[in-house]
Amino acid sequence: HADRAMHESKKSGRNTMYFFNSSMRNEADKYMELTSAMRTGLAEGHFQVYYQPILDVALQRFTRCEALCRWISPDRGFISPGEFIPVAEQSGLILELGSWLSKQVFACYHTLNSNGYDINFSLNRSPLEFNSIPHTEQFIQSRIQSGIPAEKITLEITESLLMSDNNIKSRNFNALKQEQLNFSIDDFGTGYSAINYLRKYPVESLKIDKSFISEMGVSGQADTLVKVIIQMAKTLEISVVAEGVETREQYEALKKMDCDYIQGFYFAKPMPKEDFLQFIAEHEKELQI
Ligand code: C2E
Ligand code: MG
Ligand code: MG
Ligand code: MG
Repeated sequence: HADRAMHESKKSGRNTMYFFNSSMRNEADKYMELTSAMRTGLAEGHFQVYYQPILDVALQRFTRCEALCRWISPDRGFISPGEFIPVAEQSGLILELGSWLSKQVFACYHTLNSNGYDINFSLNRSPLEFNSIPHTEQFIQSRIQSGIPAEKITLEITESLLMSDNNIKSRNFNALKQEQLNFSIDDFGTGYSAINYLRKYPVESLKIDKSFISEMGVSGQADTLVKVIIQMAKTLEISVVAEGVETREQYEALKKMDCDYIQGFYFAKPMPKEDFLQFIAEHEKELQI
């Protein structure tokens, strides 16, 4: 059909406006295929949650972490979230994935807690999750049943999610906020940064996007922007997390700028639960010496 559609559009003399071409068809096929593979992967337990430690600069301790989803397929290998999250979002599978993920995160909190560590866990919430009242209610109930203090959980959302305002969103935001759950703005600086939304949706923290961090020391403009974001956040009493910190130079510069939290490969990559527990245990032991 794609070929015929192309042929006909050529015949009509509109060479530049194809309705449907073979590359679009491949995209659609790929999407369908990935959706069904994801469904199978979820049912067969091929998804995992990795945890990336986040350093509290003032305390010099890893007091937070971010939960990041991993899909390790026996026949496809490692598939990156950049590839499967948009598919999950579009197909609605993100609701199932998100519910599963939050249960894993709650279990991980308990494991660390029973070992004597009290860590804050950040979860990424997608627009579809945030736009669903039943899904949000279910999350709230699941958190209550887990017995985990709400202030130990942070929900990461993007600026664009808050920009496109609607009643369901504000209802969900208020319900989660009322539970004392924390909010963080992910990838800060890549959206509109029309920080007006902060008045309606107060957040506990913001995460400076890693594209700014990687430009630090390279582009003077990036350095200035990072500095301005940190100062703005301080004024608004919002804490700042720098994401994607890979070098000592970046870390030192951010420390000088009074950045509150650091996340990045410089300290640790996202890792499975067991490794994460070990990582925290080793660092806390160092502190006791
Ligand atoms: P994000 O929420 O901004 O997560 C941070 C990403 O930066 C992660 O990529 C992390 O592995 C990566 N990262 C951390 N430190 C460094 C560093 O020093 N250098 C570099 N180059 N990268 C670093 P990842 O795990 O591939 O996830 C990509 C995106 O997929 C996430 O971006 C998030 O938007 C989404 N995602 C991942 N897991 C989930 C999930 O469970 N639910 C939802 N809704 N989205 C998720
Ligand atoms: Mg995130
Ligand atoms: Mg993100
Ligand atoms: Mg981010």
